[in-house]
Amino acid sequence: MLQSINPVNEELIKEYEEHTDSEIENILKRNDKAFKSWRTVDFGHRADLMRKAGDVLRNNRDEYAELMTREMGKPISGARAEVDKCAWVCDYYAENGEAFLNDEIIETDASKSFVTFEPLGSVLAVMPWNFPFWQVFRFAVPGLMAGNAGLLKHASNVTGCALAIEDVFKKAGFPEDLFRTLKIGSSKVAGVIENPIIKAVTLTGSVPAGKAVAEKAGSELKKTVLELGGSDPYLILDDADIDKAIPTCVNSRLINNGQSCIAAKRFIVVESRFEEFEEKFVEEMKNRTMGDPMDDSFDLGPQARNDLRDELHDQVKRSIDKGAKCLLGGEIPDRKGAWYPPTVLTDVKQGMAAYEEELFGPVAAIIKAKDEEEAIQIANDSIFGLGAAVFTEDLGKGEKIASKKLNAGNCFVNSLVKSDPRLPFGGIKESGYGRELSHFGIKEFVNVKTVYVG
Ligand code: NAP
Repeated sequence: MLQSINPVNEELIKEYEEHTDSEIENILKRNDKAFKSWRTVDFGHRADLMRKAGDVLRNNRDEYAELMTREMGKPISGARAEVDKCAWVCDYYAENGEAFLNDEIIETDASKSFVTFEPLGSVLAVMPWNFPFWQVFRFAVPGLMAGNAGLLKHASNVTGCALAIEDVFKKAGFPEDLFRTLKIGSSKVAGVIENPIIKAVTLTGSVPAGKAVAEKAGSELKKTVLELGGSDPYLILDDADIDKAIPTCVNSRLINNGQSCIAAKRFIVVESRFEEFEEKFVEEMKNRTMGDPMDDSFDLGPQARNDLRDELHDQVKRSIDKGAKCLLGGEIPDRKGAWYPPTVLTDVKQGMAAYEEELFGPVAAIIKAKDEEEAIQIANDSIFGLGAAVFTEDLGKGEKIASKKLNAGNCFVNSLVKSDPRLPFGGIKESGYGRELSHFGIKEFVNVKTVYVG
């Protein structure tokens, strides 16, 4: 049984029967059948349907936003923005999908040689609860535009969202069974990967889940894209405009109740600006309010689940035990629900959980660096490589550090790290591999076919 529980008050929203093995088999067969006819549909028609999917999202914004907020506790304003972003990615690929996949003529000694991009078939998506609509759409939209079919195994706590997303594509007029939700727990994923109908797998989630899925898919020789965890460093250099940087840093740490893969997690501050940053950062974190996520007036809601909140608190306690200082928060509030307050740890050093691990909640780790060079070295001293940001008034220097010195997939200057349909998104090291969005994303799950006419 899959359960959706409201993290605000721990009340059961709904229970869902899991699909049985024979139901799974049946869904896969129907998905494969839908793929076989969908692959022949021209881009113009695919684009029309995708635009309609964007309209369905916009027309039902409040309903979908409330569903997300109920199931995982994100602030309702962020949930509405998430629905709009999904509509944007629909419009973006409706507009550009065909051009991204145009044949590429390449001059060789042949009378004609070119590359053509063919869909693969049914792609399994294993998805997380944190952006329950966006993570799915950024995989599904380019996938369907490329001519693939989609199967979604969503996180077990957001089945309502998973079914609503299936319904968006149905309402938009996509063929029945082209995009289906599998109501299954994670223990059933390996069996689905083994099924010959599945041609590739994409997973967004934690490192252990990514490793388990990649191992299974590897043993079946099926391609994977992995979008995993991160511990994004934000570097505050000597010449940073601290007053401008602070709200950006705090917004990035607290976005989505602190539960974003590309949230700022480590603040690496050069010695000369350390005290000023620390003081102003704590002030700004203190100003952020926590309360009912359905009420627009609060900045933060609860964490998505009690067990995740408890893990976060354990990381905080372990860091303090090793010598980190807690300047704000750090206590579980005495109220029902998965609440955790904005928390600031300072004097964070190598060997502490806050330095080494991903803090998936509203806990900031401040780390002191001697100078710019040491700040870069600390930033790169991580198993992760998802995003990074550098704050400096010297844009040339910022650009050089972002492009040449930081080891991550998405490096920003004087801005918080964010995803955008026009830009590729993905990580290196244990943050995963492969790219989503832009023309790179749509080419992940296609056969890049060489055609040579002698
Ligand atoms: P999670 O526990 O790894 O779950 C993600 C998905 O994987 C869920 O559908 C889960 O199913 C499934 N899963 C877990 N263990 C599995 C296994 N052994 N085999 C097959 N499937 C498995 O992650 P989460 O707590 O939902 O999300 C938080 C993590 O996602 C963070 O680390 C965050 O940084 C990362 N994330 C990364 C990105 C990115 O773009 N790089 C974006 C968002 C989030 P069940 O729910 O049924 O367990």
